[in-house]
Amino acid sequence: MDETLLEIAQAAKGFMPDDEGLALYEAGLDAARDGPLLEIGSYCGKSAVYLGAAAKERGSSLFSIDHHRGSEENQPGEEYHDPDLVDEEGRVDTLPWFRSTIEEAGLSNWVIGVVGSSPKVARAWTTPLALVFIDGGHSRVAADADYLSWAPKLMTGGLLAIHDVFPDPADGGRAPFEIFERARASGGFEELQGCGSLRVLRKLDDRI
Ligand code: SAH
Ligand code: MG
Repeated sequence: MDETLLEIAQAAKGFMPDDEGLALYEAGLDAARDGPLLEIGSYCGKSAVYLGAAAKERGSSLFSIDHHRGSEENQPGEEYHDPDLVDEEGRVDTLPWFRSTIEEAGLSNWVIGVVGSSPKVARAWTTPLALVFIDGGHSRVAADADYLSWAPKLMTGGLLAIHDVFPDPADGGRAPFEIFERARASGGFEELQGCGSLRVLRKLDDRI
């Protein structure tokens, strides 16, 4: 991966260890030959730089969705709250951080921010996707909605990447693990090489 982009990705605020970020970049490179990439959970743009670097190399695009108001665990008083990321009214607002990361990386022509709720965007979405990366809300309801909304939008042969897959509940919330298991049990996906809590599956057919 381009050195400058790698440094920007590593320096951005976010929740993605370097090795998982590079694995995501590799999945993006593989997929972006065939069509656009899409992620749920932009936050401050860290994963968007890894995937955006791949989109740029292939002349593709990354659509990065977030309402930018943070997940439950990002709210004031919660475990993953960052006091730098609030607006004048005290509400979480990661959009300025996302925009500044993407501009600093020079990726504005390849990374398209979509500000809104993931299932609402999905309802209007018709373009087949070469990769979907699910890294949004970690509640059961949010993770199920992301999987059920976006897995059907993947092209056959496209990649489904899921972050924060922790088989042991002691390591973290179970919802991403549960959608990962659901995808595997459907028969419509085959598992590829993952890294840490990043899991990658290839879509075989329309079973979800
Ligand atoms: N991919 C990021 C981390 C994402 S954190 C990184 O590399 O660091 C999860 C993000 O999902 C938060 O910014 C939150 O606002 C967003 N989110 C949670 N539920 C969402 C929903 N239903 N629609 C859109 N965004 C959502
Ligand atoms: Mg994550």
